[in-house]
Amino acid sequence: MGYQKDREIIEFIQWLPKTETHLHIEGAIPFHLLKELDPVQFSEPPASWDRDFKFSTFKEFEDELLNMVHQWYISPERYHIAAREIFHSLVEQNVKYLELSFHAGVMDYHDLNGPEVVSAIKSAAPENLQVRVFLGMLRNHYSEKMAPILDDCPNWEGLDGIDLHGPERLPIQSWKERLWRAARDAGMETKAHAGEFGGADYVRDAIELLNVKRVQHGVRAIEDPAVVQMVLDRDVTFDVCPISNIKLGVVETMEEHPIRQLFDQGVRCTISTDDPLSFGNRLVDEYEALSVDVFSKVELAKIARNGFEVALMEAEEKAPYLAQIDSYLEKN
Ligand SMILES: [Zn+2]
Repeated sequence: MGYQKDREIIEFIQWLPKTETHLHIEGAIPFHLLKELDPVQFSEPPASWDRDFKFSTFKEFEDELLNMVHQWYISPERYHIAAREIFHSLVEQNVKYLELSFHAGVMDYHDLNGPEVVSAIKSAAPENLQVRVFLGMLRNHYSEKMAPILDDCPNWEGLDGIDLHGPERLPIQSWKERLWRAARDAGMETKAHAGEFGGADYVRDAIELLNVKRVQHGVRAIEDPAVVQMVLDRDVTFDVCPISNIKLGVVETMEEHPIRQLFDQGVRCTISTDDPLSFGNRLVDEYEALSVDVFSKVELAKIARNGFEVALMEAEEKAPYLAQIDSYLEKN
């Protein structure tokens, strides 16, 4: 995307060991795979890859993405093929740890078996990238067909956690509180998308009702100091996707992005790409975009460090990455 022209900053960002903790595999299909599938329909990348592109509505984004997703993800094998390439690209960017979600809606639509999808994704992981897989579901996903499947997911082999997606304004009902608790009891991590299109109250609800310590986006918490205080008190982390926020109109410009104020107020934020198939972004683009007018190199290093702090890795596994970042921070 070319957000930075300064070679030294580009090299610094590449050098930083990084995490990606907010990535939807459906929104991360490598575009050339679609092009090979249908060279006519997918002759060019989506217009939304243009750096200044903004979606006019969330529906426009969703319709464009779903059209691409449903043509590709028709089997666990397709998840494996896409995952292998996604992982390779992340390794090239010096990403060491990934939290990836796959969407219950695709499983529902194509009648896929959840544990088989988890295994297909995980078996694509190279040795030098730690991969954790989450099941993402919509707030209204508890249908007659899906309820027993979702209720069973805390027992799935290899699943590391669950996440809540989709239209934020639908209510958090009792099945979610129950399922989020069951997942934690099974040793899984739990997350929820909130504070993207919904305001600070939605962040409060996700934290209070679902008891999550990891909020995806969360940026609109900035609208209510009491919610920011609650985030600090409960040691909640926001997995923020700045380019996604700009292209979807959650925030107007990178300079105005609330990640700056959240960082200054002590909220632990990480940065990730969300849906690179729609936004045309790589993780290094997120760092580069923030390095222009938002964060210094030292601050970017602290943000990269945050990702390893919350990573679901053993202490000895994350130690070398934390040590590399800490030695830079000590000298700068
Ligand atoms: Zn997301």
